[in-house]
Amino acid sequence: MIENSKLTVIGAGAVGSSVAYASLIRGSARHVALYDIDAAKTEAEVLDLAHGTLFTRASDIIGGSDIGVAEGSHVVVITAGAKQKPGQTRIELAATNAKIVGSIVRDVLEVAPHAIIVIVTNPCDVLTMLAHEASGLPPERVFASGTVLDTSRLRWEIARRTGVAPTSVHAQIVGEHGDTEFPLWSDARISTVPILEWRGEDGAPLFTLEELDRIAVDVREAAYKVIQGKGATNYAIGLSSARIVEAILADENAVLNVATVLSDFHGIDGVALSVPSVVGSTGARPIRESPFSAEELEKLRASAAALEEVAAGLRG
Ligand code: NAD
Repeated sequence: MIENSKLTVIGAGAVGSSVAYASLIRGSARHVALYDIDAAKTEAEVLDLAHGTLFTRASDIIGGSDIGVAEGSHVVVITAGAKQKPGQTRIELAATNAKIVGSIVRDVLEVAPHAIIVIVTNPCDVLTMLAHEASGLPPERVFASGTVLDTSRLRWEIARRTGVAPTSVHAQIVGEHGDTEFPLWSDARISTVPILEWRGEDGAPLFTLEELDRIAVDVREAAYKVIQGKGATNYAIGLSSARIVEAILADENAVLNVATVLSDFHGIDGVALSVPSVVGSTGARPIRESPFSAEELEKLRASAAALEEVAAGLRG
């Protein structure tokens, strides 16, 4: 447990301000700082958040447009950059956001040299690969929020259909945080019951393979639907990021599907993909022995190939 822990959130847009808000309410860090190049917006967001701290747990909030606000941070969550427009994929943001995130990581490490960096800006897994290469940080110290959010979407969807709490649904989305992501159905359970054996009120199995495929597509396209309706996704990523921050700052060693640059993970090297990983005060460590069926392994390799291609294009 880190005493007087400090979280800095970079980017005070829809996502960054929601990460700060969720972290304050959950008491994820003792001190929260918000940084954005837009000074007026940051000042307004910080004031609005500060005005509610009477009702939050033991946290305070500062912020501004000088990176000095991040000084001494234990965790830095990066949300700055362009966001998806309706219909746009996360990959289409890559070139713009690679430049933004690259310079932010450099600046952050000057004022918070020991920080663990969590990348939320999209495409978060590709940006993690580039940040890892440019910074020289070990892979456990720079990782993407990855499919923590997508896994929460999946567990909510299964919980809704079965009438069981999301915490009792054991199912994972892995791979790219994006179009090639997929669920590990081979290991999905509700309590201890394999998902295909779960029965509805009529006593018949509730899920078929076709139904599971439809759920996977719904989860994959969930962000597009939200963006179409309100222009951004922010609350659930705010909560997902706060959860990751807590795992780090409380040295929980919680297993979360974050994306680190993998080495020898079922034969995959040098690509950041979300897989079950142990998250604690030293960062994130993928669990190499996580089982994948042959079909799931093929999908993981397809995710790796897709991201490697985008990263190669950005490296020039
Ligand atoms: P937004 O436009 O509301 O906010 C982006 C903020 O970044 C703006 O306030 C802008 O001033 C700031 N910014 C730009 N360049 C900067 C720089 N160099 N330094 C500091 N701040 C800078 O966008 P948003 O809706 O908050 O989305 C932010 C990012 O988060 C997008 O890339 C989006 O795709 C991503 N996102 C990721 C996930 C995920 O699960 N990984 C989920 C939702 C959104």
